[in-house]
Amino acid sequence: MSKSNDSEKARQALSRIVDLFKTGDVPKALAVATIPPQAGIPSSKWSWSNRLLQFMADTSDARGFRQWQEADRKVNKGAKCFHILGPKIRKITETDDNGQESDKVFVAGFFTIPVFRAEDTDGKPLPYEPTTPPPLTDVADKLGLSVSYQTFAGSYYGYYQGNSKKIVLASHEARVFFHELAHAAHHRIEGNLKGGQVPSQEIIAELSAAVLAQLYCPESNLGFSYEYIESYAKKSKKTVERACLAVINTVGKVLDEILGYQRESKGSQAA
Ligand SMILES: [Zn+2]
Repeated sequence: MSKSNDSEKARQALSRIVDLFKTGDVPKALAVATIPPQAGIPSSKWSWSNRLLQFMADTSDARGFRQWQEADRKVNKGAKCFHILGPKIRKITETDDNGQESDKVFVAGFFTIPVFRAEDTDGKPLPYEPTTPPPLTDVADKLGLSVSYQTFAGSYYGYYQGNSKKIVLASHEARVFFHELAHAAHHRIEGNLKGGQVPSQEIIAELSAAVLAQLYCPESNLGFSYEYIESYAKKSKKTVERACLAVINTVGKVLDEILGYQRESKGSQAA
């Protein structure tokens, strides 16, 4: 790689950080970047600016090509790297008026380091991935959704992104996955969902998840679900009962959608 090419990449990486400040996305990015990541993940030791670059690449675990090899994972063909910055340390020896020599160390610039997202690698399971995928993972496959795990769990346990058809989980709890799967099924039924945490959408997703949890992991605790629904019912100035009643038909449709795919895949397995 030529020198000028490298400094151009460093300049681009720096300007991406500056852009983040311009667009006002810094608070969110910093919140994610400050959460203590899991031990044993190289980026947990990265500088703040590199963790911001990682945040912008939409991953919580990026590593160099060799680091992935050492973790028994392979970078997928065609995967694109992004660049983080390493400081170019220079040392100069200065002589003061008394003839005393002293070494001065300073950052003379940056070099770039190419890294790849965990999402673009395959191989040995990552320490933060569950050993067995949650029930209904096959339904997510059928719906064309990617399911990936991230190490950070700042303000959320998981999210569903409709336009890129992906579910990202920061928890191994099946019900967290069910909640996001319900958002995805709801999205298919309605054609479009409003962005952000819309109370009715959240109640639909959480009620559906509670039913699926009853079906697939009845030992799981329902307390969290009630508090979650209650908080959204309050936002729409309704009692929990009324808020649930208002969306119960949609919940039924969401469950039909998910369990329909489940029945289909069971059938094809038997055939
Ligand atoms: Zn939700």
